[in-house]
Amino acid sequence: MKTIGFIGGMSWESSLEYYRITNEIIKEKLGESHSCKSIMYSVDFAEFEKLQHEGRWELLTFKMIDIAVKLENAGADLIIICTNTMHKMATEVQKSIKIPLLHIADATAEEIKVKNMSTVGLLGTRFTMEEDFYTGRLKEKHGINVLIPKEEDRKIIHKIIYQELIAGILKEESRQRFQEIIQNLKKAGAEGVILGCTEIPLLIKEKDSDLPVFDTTTLHARKAVEQILK
Ligand code: GLU
Repeated sequence: MKTIGFIGGMSWESSLEYYRITNEIIKEKLGESHSCKSIMYSVDFAEFEKLQHEGRWELLTFKMIDIAVKLENAGADLIIICTNTMHKMATEVQKSIKIPLLHIADATAEEIKVKNMSTVGLLGTRFTMEEDFYTGRLKEKHGINVLIPKEEDRKIIHKIIYQELIAGILKEESRQRFQEIIQNLKKAGAEGVILGCTEIPLLIKEKDSDLPVFDTTTLHARKAVEQILK
C-alpha cells in the first residue's frame, strides 16, 4: 500500500469524512486490522476562507504548493486536495511536485460516465459553480455538460456552505432549500447532480434528492484508495 497525502482542513468537517471513508474502504478490501496509510496537512480554514473571499488566489496557490511539497517530502505518494474549490490551483500544484495529484473532478466524471449521463447539475461554492476550472474541466476533458443553479440560488448555496456546513451546522430548512434547487436543476434537464463541495454530502444524501447524486467526497476518497493499492 502506498501513502495518501491529504491537504485538509477545508473544512475539517469534510476532512474527517476523507479519513473515515479511506479507512473504511481499506478495511473492507484488506480485512479487519488493515487501515489506510495517510498523512494529513490540516490548515486553519479561517485564514484560507478570508483569502478566498478577498480574491487573493496567488497567495493561496503559493500556500497550497508549499503544503503539497511538504507532503511529498514527508513520504506521500499521491496528493488529495480535500475540497473542490481549492482545485482552482490544481494545475499549478501538480506542476510543483513529482507525485500525482488526483483531481476531484476527474474522479467524479468517471462515475458520471459509468452512469451514462451527459448532463448533470452542479452544487458547490460560487467559485466552483461560476468559474471555469471545474465546469470547464468536466466539459473539455470529459464531455460532460454542467448546469448550474440560477444566481439567487448560487448565493444561497454559497452562504449555507460557509455559514453552516463548514461549521458542522446541519439545518432542516437548508436541506429543503437544496432539495428545491435540485428539483429546478432536474426541470432544466439535469440527469444527476454533483455534490461539488465536500461538506454537502453531510447534509444531502441520495434519499433527499430527486436526482441521483455524485458525492465528490466519497468518489474522490474511493479513487484515492484504488490508486494507493495499485
Ligand atoms: N469544502 C468545500 C469545497 O469542496 C468548500 C471549502 C473551500 O472553500 O475550500 O469546495
